[in-house]
Amino acid sequence: MVLLSTKTVKTIKPHRCMGCVKTIPPGTRVLREVVVDGNEIWTVYICEICQDIIAEHEIDEFSEGDIIRNYTHEYNARKAHHVKN
Ligand SMILES: [Zn+2]
Repeated sequence: MVLLSTKTVKTIKPHRCMGCVKTIPPGTRVLREVVVDGNEIWTVYICEICQDIIAEHEIDEFSEGDIIRNYTHEYNARKAHHVKN
C-alpha cells in the first residue's frame, strides 16, 4: 500500500472514519488520505479523535483498525470521565 497524498479537509458529504468506523458528519475537519493498493486507489478519511490516537500511540492506521477502535473506546471513556469532573 502506497500513500499518495495526505491532506486536512473539511468534509462536504458524510464519510465513514476508517479508524473508529463512525460516520463523520459534513463540515468536519478530517485527514483525507489517498492510497494505492495494487491497482486500486482508495480515499480514506480519519476523524480528529483517531488522528490523535494514531499520533499518541504511533499506530499504523492502515493495518490496525481494530487497535484504533479499542483506543477510541478508551479515549471516549477518558473524555466522558473528564467532562464529569
Ligand atoms: Zn475516527
